[in-house]
Amino acid sequence: MAATGALTDFVNNGTGMSGERSGDRNTSAVVGRFAPSPTGDLHLGNLRTAVVAWLSARSQGGGFIVRMEDLDPVTADPAAADRQLADLTAIGLDWDGEVVFQSGRFDLYDAAVATLSARDLVYECFCSRRQVREQIAAAAAAPHGPPGAYPGTCRDLDHQQRADRRASGRPAALRLRTDNGVFAFDELTGDRHDGSVDDFVLRRNDGTPSYNVAVVVDDERQGVTEVVRGDDLRPSTPRQVLLQELLGFRSPVYLHVPLVLGDDGERLAKRHGAVTLADLRAEDVSIGAVLRWIAVSLDLAAATDTVTIEQLVDRFDPTRLPNAPRTFRHSHHQWQ
Ligand code: GLU
Repeated sequence: MAATGALTDFVNNGTGMSGERSGDRNTSAVVGRFAPSPTGDLHLGNLRTAVVAWLSARSQGGGFIVRMEDLDPVTADPAAADRQLADLTAIGLDWDGEVVFQSGRFDLYDAAVATLSARDLVYECFCSRRQVREQIAAAAAAPHGPPGAYPGTCRDLDHQQRADRRASGRPAALRLRTDNGVFAFDELTGDRHDGSVDDFVLRRNDGTPSYNVAVVVDDERQGVTEVVRGDDLRPSTPRQVLLQELLGFRSPVYLHVPLVLGDDGERLAKRHGAVTLADLRAEDVSIGAVLRWIAVSLDLAAATDTVTIEQLVDRFDPTRLPNAPRTFRHSHHQWQ
């Protein structure tokens, strides 16, 4: 466990630096977070995950922060960030301190990569995405690592090979040198999960830090003790745990919330109809009705209840959340 206090931006009641593991519930050192990517409006599934994150933190008397994951300048939209924050407020969520934007923090992520690099844990990778896909497909025939793992094509280039590739003009991405090990993490439900980790990308070849690096650095600096997010991100968690170990950071506890699906079984998206707060309000659906749908979908309310977010705080229990995906069916009467 590292002495990370000096790095902590957000200190919850002065206890965020205590270094206590977050597995102990009911400690005042809990800090939760919601970290959307501002690429469009939040839909019901995103709002539902945000509600779970907020309820979990607040039901333990914990702090709660919101972070905008706008790493990618091509997809990040500042207007979408504003709308997302307005929607979170509209459904009754609040947060502590300023919203942090990852786009202004590349120095911090680069410093983490430099730390790993100084320990010879980083190598340049000249493969294009397409090449990586082809290599992974070819490696599946003669597996020597976990399925889907980057097969290490650029891992052991010699000095000359690296010089040649640099001279060819394609900028290098940076990858972590791993042992394809297995890393485990705890869920707030009491379960333990694990997964194997390959030589994943730390910095893209356009210089953008990778999601995993940015998340791990920010969760540490912001004193985050519990990470609540969609379960589509569960496969990334072992990578984040490895980075935490290598950088001497505490590992938060995780809650991966099953996704909301459309009635075709695919993850919820615009094409499933009115799925954002703006769409629903345009159809005269009240905020209360949206919150009720979320509460019912989490088994925290009956379909006939009127609920407030404060009431849900008392009812929240992470071990009793539904553990299957929730299907959203667009119909008018469910909002009555
Ligand atoms: N920014 C990610 C997303 O919106 C979530 C990342 C996280 O919670 O770790 O999908």
